[in-house]
Amino acid sequence: MPLIAPLAKLVGELRRLPGIGPKTATRLAYHIISIEKERALSLARAIVSAKENITYCSICYNLTDQTPCQICRSEERDSHLLCVVEDPKDVEAMERTHEYHGKYHVLHGALSPMEGIGPDNLKMKELLIRLGTGDFQEVIMATNPDVEGEATALYLSRLLKPLGLKVTRIAHGLPVGGDLDYADEMTLSKALENRREM
Ligand SMILES: [Zn+2]
Repeated sequence: MPLIAPLAKLVGELRRLPGIGPKTATRLAYHIISIEKERALSLARAIVSAKENITYCSICYNLTDQTPCQICRSEERDSHLLCVVEDPKDVEAMERTHEYHGKYHVLHGALSPMEGIGPDNLKMKELLIRLGTGDFQEVIMATNPDVEGEATALYLSRLLKPLGLKVTRIAHGLPVGGDLDYADEMTLSKALENRREM
């Protein structure tokens, strides 16, 4: 017997989420149907609120509910130090270490000729403008330790060094091919501490 239409619709939507296969989607859909109406509506409202209230910071391009974001507005953060990451979740990973006190710039991806992602598809122009107007001294490349992340760090270091900036790369020791946000705090702290000049 096919699923009744509203249930099939819910399963269909859940299946589109990353890491959710048909079995999990069906299980979650039945669960949502079984819980109290107020709890289900609270979940739905949280999704709507996140989509409506979260935007990208106009300076660093991290996710924020007010722009400029809290980190960009903070006068306690070191404004000479800029950490370049691929994704907003990498900012969160760096913040979890409590070892980094500079500013961030989120590229929203990495260079990948295979996938047709070039400099214009990333927040690179915005980075160059920002570095041209700010008083940054060191730029830390904290892109992922995979082929695309390394290529992106190298590409940017060639652009930035002629501007008189010190460009560093977080140390290896991070699992190669892994994502920055999968690294535990200790590994990431060490990688940051042992960064080397590019
Ligand atoms: Zn910001």
